Amino acid sequence: MATVLLVDDSASARALLGVRLRESGHDVIEVAHAADAAEMARDDPPDVVVTDLWMPGISGLLLCRLLRAEGGTMHVPVVLLTASDDRRSRFWAHHAGAAAYVTKTEIDRLIDVIADLTSSPRTRPPPASLPQASMTSRGTVQERLSQLLDAALFESTIAGEVRALSQKADEVEQIFQDLATIASDVAGYRWLGLATAERQLPHAKAATRLFVHTHDALREAAEREARDALSVPHPPERRKRDESDAFIVTDRRAVEADWSTPPIVLPVSFGTTTMGRLALAPGRRGASHEDRRLVQLVAADLGGPLRMAALVAEARRLASTDTLTGLLNRRAFTERIDRARASSDNGLFPMSLLLLDVDHFKKVNDTIGHDAGDAVLQGVARVLSGIARRSDFVARWGGEEFVVALTNTAEGGARVAAERVRRAIAEAKYALPAGDPISATASVGLASAITPDWRLEELLGRADKAMYSAKARGRNRVEMA
Ligand code: GH3
Ligand code: MG
Ligand code: MG
Repeated sequence: MATVLLVDDSASARALLGVRLRESGHDVIEVAHAADAAEMARDDPPDVVVTDLWMPGISGLLLCRLLRAEGGTMHVPVVLLTASDDRRSRFWAHHAGAAAYVTKTEIDRLIDVIADLTSSPRTRPPPASLPQASMTSRGTVQERLSQLLDAALFESTIAGEVRALSQKADEVEQIFQDLATIASDVAGYRWLGLATAERQLPHAKAATRLFVHTHDALREAAEREARDALSVPHPPERRKRDESDAFIVTDRRAVEADWSTPPIVLPVSFGTTTMGRLALAPGRRGASHEDRRLVQLVAADLGGPLRMAALVAEARRLASTDTLTGLLNRRAFTERIDRARASSDNGLFPMSLLLLDVDHFKKVNDTIGHDAGDAVLQGVARVLSGIARRSDFVARWGGEEFVVALTNTAEGGARVAAERVRRAIAEAKYALPAGDPISATASVGLASAITPDWRLEELLGRADKAMYSAKARGRNRVEMA
């Protein structure tokens, strides 16, 4: 019926099983050593291999992995036999890619299993978790085995490194940089690219970002090709290079840049969420086996670290923004200014501060409703964001109070800015959830730092006093401290 290659180092076990298998009509070839079995299977693949699991020298597990890794024998089912049914053997049998696992006392079951495996000639692909060594049909069994073990080491090492990325970094930039270090150690690509997905978390803001690692000299060409490969839109022509929102890491490692081999692109997911896409553009003509495996392995394991980074970024964003207006909250405002001050040459001096309070705001709440009040606050926040420069800091200080820090702005300029803000708030029409848009005004207190060693609290205190004197003097006006 079927040709069975029976491998067992015990002559009595071979004899016992051989008799029973022949009685059931099979052609049985008995072999004592796994190495001989591997050679025979490669020269003339049997219908099924039945092998003892634990044998001295090359074990049944290793034989199974070897057969599953080679083109000529990868579809030959392997049944692993063992003296007892223990969990450890079962685990390894499964991970070695065995078709079945049977104890030696269950000979009837073994016969059924063989009948089942050989009745419908299936072409089963090898399990994805098995390394596929780039094996030729040359080399001794020992050489082929060590190649297989090298491939397994390559896989487990890369997978381990990629999974560990989230322990070392929680920002995508750092994760990508670490990934580039790992990847460039094992493959000579002209560029490695990552595009993060539009929306990695259900409520997060939509943002696609491009990350590229390449050689210094290939920077522009690599970014262009990566955008095409990963479908990330090109920036407008006139935009300057340093304004590109792509994150480009370069080094000067030698690379053969043969642009004729198309990039390999694979999706990166976490569960059912698409986290992005990964691409590798091979360095030499034709992608190598390592290049392909690298992309597959990284794509399979990068989803976790990216998901972690997205969650951390979202948590940071939520902790620093005011939910109603989307502006910075009080704590984040103070922190950002401290940080910017520490990293600036001039300590942000001259510095001016505006404190604004919406006039008669309680009346909006009381007469039109709280929702209308919220809409006005959102509108004022929009006006302030629209006016502020990139280097300014705008925050909701609390309730209907807002604060704007005008960095590198002395009193004269700050007065002009304060007046512009006051007028813009007064001229805006605030759309409400229901009914006609309404108008609003705000009173603005202005304080400017006198010396470079200014303190934020002191500035805020003065601006607050000035704001109250603006209220006292009739509202909808600017007062200086
Ligand atoms: P003044 O011109 O003197 O500033 O008068 P005002 O009515 O604006 O001042 P007051 O401080 O008495 O009222 C502020 C009101 O803002 C009271 C509070 O209920 C309301 N408020 C604070 N936070 C919010 C919010 O998030 N949404 C809404 N709708 N109202 C808020
Ligand atoms: Mg108030
Ligand atoms: Mg008010």
